[in-house]
Amino acid sequence: MNPSIHIPFTDLTAHHAPIRRELMEAIGGVIDSGAFSGGPFVEAFEKDFSSYCRTRFCVGVGSGTDALWLSLAALEIGPGDEVITVPATFVATVEAIIRTGARPVFVDIDPLTYTMNPEKLEEAISSRTKAIIPVHLYGRMADMRSVVKVAESYGIAVVEDAAQAHGASRHGRRAGSFGVTGCFSFYPGKNLGAFGEAGAVVTDDKVIADRLRSLREHGQHARNDHRVIGWNCRMDGIQAAVLRLKLGELDANNKRRAAHAVHYTRLLTGIPGLVPPAPDDANAHISHLYVIQVPERERFVARMLDRGIECSIHYPVPVHLQEAYSYLGHRTGDFPISESCAAHVVSLPMHANLTPVQIEEVAAAAAEAIGAVIAA
Ligand SMILES: *Cc1c(COP(=O)(O)O)cnc(C)c1O
Repeated sequence: MNPSIHIPFTDLTAHHAPIRRELMEAIGGVIDSGAFSGGPFVEAFEKDFSSYCRTRFCVGVGSGTDALWLSLAALEIGPGDEVITVPATFVATVEAIIRTGARPVFVDIDPLTYTMNPEKLEEAISSRTKAIIPVHLYGRMADMRSVVKVAESYGIAVVEDAAQAHGASRHGRRAGSFGVTGCFSFYPGKNLGAFGEAGAVVTDDKVIADRLRSLREHGQHARNDHRVIGWNCRMDGIQAAVLRLKLGELDANNKRRAAHAVHYTRLLTGIPGLVPPAPDDANAHISHLYVIQVPERERFVARMLDRGIECSIHYPVPVHLQEAYSYLGHRTGDFPISESCAAHVVSLPMHANLTPVQIEEVAAAAAEAIGAVIAA
């Protein structure tokens, strides 16, 4: 490893340093009040996050996985139903479908945007299809106008997996506000990250919002009056207080990520063998991850690490080829775009606090590494 350079994949310490005192005060406020589970801090965050997403309601939950599962449960999706999503996602999207008892049906992605290909959507729809879950992968918004248009023509609900897209917007509307519900994760590494686990659902539909509030709290209608079977999916007060404070920094941090992405792409365009991400409207891609494609990925990543640069891979195995989902009967070749992307994608270091010098170092190392693996 080159001792003079160490560029971590992400840097949460640098991210929190400028607001550390405010964060400690916010946590102190929760400790002093004792409102640790649900309660006023969660309500205050919900109010701020729904207005940020420009939706009527927000329901704070325990994780992004909860947000997806409870959305489907609130739509009364269950055994015998089908839910369409993409294989190029984190497994949680598919897990949530299976938890309801429904069957996941996959559509392949668009090779330029890494998101659901709306042209493949219609052939996946059957009389059992109850919902479609597009995923805003890497922070880039899926083609929501097209997805919603197809869904509406069949009367099928759209649930957005916006776990990687806090604050992205297209056609003047935020990620999460196109579907019946929008699902967010506040896992620490996301663009808006908690100090542990948390998630949220946003919606304009009052009936759905009420169902979500009941489902996250053991199906409770009122105290000791349980009318449906729910689960414990509450958000913590401490997470809500931290998130409410950090929400104030989100747009500025997303802007910095977008500038870093532009800088990377300028330096990485035209390097033989290396495919930078397709450019997008700065608002429609919040650069949660900066993902390139390379041949000989394992050797490329090892060479980068030799130069002190940590890369990551999101995700090396598409969900339909994961062992847990083999019962669905899919084989290699079923979703060729997702499979080819999974084989070649590499995520370069990306976080708001990267410096221009670090970006230049990463780009120079990437150019050198790709030259070496191609020549070998
Ligand atoms: C992070 C993530 C989830 C799951 O969120 P958790 O908060 O970890 O449960 C779901 N879908 C996508 C696309 C994600 O990136």
